Amino acid sequence: MQTKLAGALEKAREQFEAANPRSRAAHATAAASMPGGNTRTTLYYSPFPLTMTCGDGCLLTDLDGHRYVDLLGDYTAGLYGHNNPVIRRAVHQALDRGWNYGAHGPDEARLAAVLCERFPGLDLVRFTNSGTEANLLALATATAHTGRRTILVFTGAYHGSVLTFADGDFPLNVPHRFAVAEYNDIAATAEVIDRHADDLAAILVEPVLGSGGSLPAAPSFLAHLRHQADETGALLIFDEVMTSRMAVGGMQELLGITPDLTTLGKYTGGGMTFGAFGGRADVMACFDPGRPGSLAHAGTFNNNVLSMAAGHAGLTELFGAEASGALFRRGESLRARLNEVSREHGAPMFWTGLGSMLTAHFQLGPIRSPRDLRPAPAQRELFHLDMLTRGFHLARRGMIALSLEVGDHECARFTAAVDEFLTEHTPTLVEAGKG
Ligand code: PMP
Repeated sequence: MQTKLAGALEKAREQFEAANPRSRAAHATAAASMPGGNTRTTLYYSPFPLTMTCGDGCLLTDLDGHRYVDLLGDYTAGLYGHNNPVIRRAVHQALDRGWNYGAHGPDEARLAAVLCERFPGLDLVRFTNSGTEANLLALATATAHTGRRTILVFTGAYHGSVLTFADGDFPLNVPHRFAVAEYNDIAATAEVIDRHADDLAAILVEPVLGSGGSLPAAPSFLAHLRHQADETGALLIFDEVMTSRMAVGGMQELLGITPDLTTLGKYTGGGMTFGAFGGRADVMACFDPGRPGSLAHAGTFNNNVLSMAAGHAGLTELFGAEASGALFRRGESLRARLNEVSREHGAPMFWTGLGSMLTAHFQLGPIRSPRDLRPAPAQRELFHLDMLTRGFHLARRGMIALSLEVGDHECARFTAAVDEFLTEHTPTLVEAGKG
């Protein structure tokens, strides 16, 4: 006999397919020249992903003409929403001056100065083209600086397309000597560190596990990592590619824990292609090309004028202390409200997160580490397709990253949509949870 969940999912897929013939055709065409019609795996979902054609403020429009409230915010990169006039002006002005100088420009130093002023852990910073590249460079810096090889990472972590620790040994990972410990488990982590203490070059950690399910690190866990890095002589690296949005100086400012190196990306380049790594002056000094024996860090597009200009305009004109505080509070109250709605329905749905980063899980809370997570792919698909049909765009894995364009009105509408979803599907979710 078909379960309630399988039946509901079949119906949701049929509805989705019937409503989106143009996106379906676009996906079939794309599949002729890209594997699975896709060049960024995170954007794929079954039965086929929607093709978006236009973004404005907090709204997206797809090929079949539907409009969505964009709650995904490009997995945190879309902090400024779509088509923001400040970013648009900065990019236009940069274009007006021409690009690809093959030389220093005025904007990289301005952007670097703002970042170093804001992030307690940044004395000096360098730019890259993505968060992945920023982490690759930070790890290479740590191994070169310490003369050691082992990198401590955590279960469920995502530091880039070749630095993925979600499901054990990922075949595309770069061949560093990785040791993996359990996120938010001080005792187990201490044991792993003890085993590798003599060779430990770096501890790489997301202050909130982002792709791994929006799971915040306990402050005591991060304080412990700071302590153990000091004890062993390893460098503590905060991957703040996602979490830098929690305050103008990122999680390091909020927690008062200063890492040796920090990596950034996503919105920090104003929504253009971007990454950055930086930290202690004595560590980053190895990249000073004027010094004898310095290390070269090349990259044709490291100071590309669009990212430098857009990044600076976004940080200085749009994302100050007031805006970041308001965004954080909006996310906190949305998450509280969503969990209240789940509780009222007695539904196995729990929202984790911090500030403007949230993820829906189809189980009861609390959820502290990836170890607590139960896979629920069918529930996730049902929820995702249902929300798309109701006009809300979020990640298949249930992730939301509020942009500055999402207001109280959109949050209230989304909460009402989740309420309706649970009115219809709570018995289905309860039955599936028992299975
Ligand atoms: N680190 C974290 C924590 C991330 O979430 C991501 C991207 N989702 C990256 C690194 C990689 O950034 P990019 O996609 O720009 O390579």
